[in-house]
Amino acid sequence: LRIVRTAAEAALRCDRYRAAALSIGFVPTMGALHAGHASLLARARRECDRVVASIFVNPTQFGPGEDLARYPRPVDADLEVLRGAGVALAYLGEERDVYPEGFQTWVEVERLTAPLCGAVRPGHFRGVATVVTQLLSIVRPHRAYFGAKDYQQARVVERLARDLHLSTEIRTCPTVREADGLAMSSRNAYLEGEARRAAARIPIALEAARTLVLRGETAVARILEALREAFRPGPDLELEYAEILRADTLEGFEGGSARRSPGGILIAVAARAGGTRLIDNVVIPPEGA
Ligand code: AMP
Repeated sequence: LRIVRTAAEAALRCDRYRAAALSIGFVPTMGALHAGHASLLARARRECDRVVASIFVNPTQFGPGEDLARYPRPVDADLEVLRGAGVALAYLGEERDVYPEGFQTWVEVERLTAPLCGAVRPGHFRGVATVVTQLLSIVRPHRAYFGAKDYQQARVVERLARDLHLSTEIRTCPTVREADGLAMSSRNAYLEGEARRAAARIPIALEAARTLVLRGETAVARILEALREAFRPGPDLELEYAEILRADTLEGFEGGSARRSPGGILIAVAARAGGTRLIDNVVIPPEGA
C-alpha cells in the first residue's frame, strides 16, 4: 500500500498505472471504514488491476451544526483495512490541498439534488458533486464504486460523470447491513443503548413498505402509512423524511400512484436515532427486471 497526501502525487501514481495499461478501480470514502466500504474495495479488486482508495472528510458537504468536527478519523485502522483489501494506493486528502487558496469552482447537479437529503441539507450535494469531480479528475479511474446506501449520491455521481463527459464508469454496490438489518455507516459508532436498538426499526419499516408494494399496493399515501406504522417514532427514533419516488429520476409519482415504473421505485428514509442522523432505502426494480 502506497500512501500519498497530495492530489499531484495521487495523479502521478495513477498516470503510471494507466501508462502500464493497468485498469484502475476507485473507492472514495470519508474513512472510519467498515464492511460496507470493504465490499466496495473487494468488488474493485475483482474487477480492476489496481485499486485506489481515498480518505477525505470533505468539509464542504457538511452543513453548519453537522458532525464535521467529531466525524470519526481512525486513520491507522483504516490503513489496515485498505492493506487487507489489497489496495494499491491510498490517497489521504488534506483540506488545503483539495481546496487550494482562492478556490471558487463548484459542481451543481440540479434536479436530482432537489428532493430527499438535498431538500434538508442545503449545499450538501454541491459539496459532494464538487469533491467527487475533483477526485475523479485526479485519479481518472476506469471504474468508481459507490454504495446504494447513499442512493441519491450514487445517482448524482452517475449524472455528473455523464454530463461532464468523464470517462469513468460508475458502479453502485448493494447496501451491507448489520445482523439486525441496520445499514452499516461510519455514523453508527455514535449510536448507544436505546438509540442503537431503535435504529433497527428503520430497515424493518422499509421492509414493511417494500412488502406492500410487492403485494400490489400502488397508493403512495398507503405505503407511507405502513412504513410509519412499522417505524414507530418515539423519543429514540424520529423520522426526518420518508419518500417514495421514481428510482431513476427521483421525481414523485403523478397522482400519488407508484406504478411499477420502468425506472423502479425508491423508498427512502432519513431518521434521527438519539440525535444521530441515519439514512436508508430500498429500491423495487421494474416488473420483469
Ligand atoms: P462514506 O465514507 O460514508 O462517504 O462512504 C463511502 C462509500 O461507501 C460511499 O459510496 C457509500 O455509499 C459507501 N457505503 C457506505 N456505507 C455503505 C454500506 N452499508 N453498504 C455499502 N456501501 C456503503
